[in-house]
Amino acid sequence: MTMFRLILSTLACVVAFPVLVWSADPARTADIAVRGLTESDFPRWTELVPNVYAYEDLLTSGGTTLTTVSLVVVTSDGVVIVDGQDTVEQGEAMLAHIKKATSQPLKYVVIASDHGDHVNSNPAFKAAYPDVVFISSPESQKVLADSETPPTEVVADKRTLRLGGTDIEILNIGRGHTGGDLVAYLPESKVLFLGELYLRYVFPAMITGYPSDWVATLKKAQAMDVTWYVPGHGFADADAATLEADLNEALKATEHVISEAKRLHKAGLACPTEKDCPAAAQANWGQYAEWTLYPAQAPRALARVYKEINGELP
Ligand SMILES: [Zn+2]
Repeated sequence: MTMFRLILSTLACVVAFPVLVWSADPARTADIAVRGLTESDFPRWTELVPNVYAYEDLLTSGGTTLTTVSLVVVTSDGVVIVDGQDTVEQGEAMLAHIKKATSQPLKYVVIASDHGDHVNSNPAFKAAYPDVVFISSPESQKVLADSETPPTEVVADKRTLRLGGTDIEILNIGRGHTGGDLVAYLPESKVLFLGELYLRYVFPAMITGYPSDWVATLKKAQAMDVTWYVPGHGFADADAATLEADLNEALKATEHVISEAKRLHKAGLACPTEKDCPAAAQANWGQYAEWTLYPAQAPRALARVYKEINGELP
């Protein structure tokens, strides 16, 4: 090795070391690159308990690639998907994945989050299974009324799907990430799929959120009898204890965003919109500035909490 190359590689080590070790902790990220994963590692799924899978495919936002999580429940009387993915192709890939595990047909698709990255796949489900039933909250039904696959059944409070002896409770435990979040709870195996109410090491994404309600909803989830807390974004391949501990991290992040917005609001700093947000420059995000999608989501979250403080949210 020439001296020049030696100097170069030494420099690379010095520069790379703090970036990898301090700025982005692979245990506390949703970014596949920080985890050392590539696009070819996805889609993938983790069997949480027999016949219940956390399925992950990819979403790229602002140059960062993270995972979107769907819940797949296989029973002897059909398959249930809770939240789809971002594209029709990803929906087709999910069905191909499921077909490797079962010959049972897809019977229900539950919409926990009505955002595009969780519903754009749904025409693929309808094309393959014309009788599939799409279920959402009444609020999400309104949001998706003009979509290609509008929800035809709604759950305002609670509905239990019983398929082949497996109970899947569809619950509205409060709004948070959207105005119409639903969750899916399997009382027997104690799996709770929270969808986008639980963003694992993703900076709190509040563009359509209800900040204080979100905190209350997460606390309700924590009070439930749950072993597996499954996120809607962020890696789903951790053990149950880690997923539960990290749900509390997500709750603390949400609380921090709210308290920081209140502090800035009180100090008289303005944030009428995410693009016109002088308060953002004065915000102290601490460790949360290292969470995935922080640059895009921080000013959005501030603007949204300001709206709540000003009484401008419905
Ligand atoms: Zn999403």
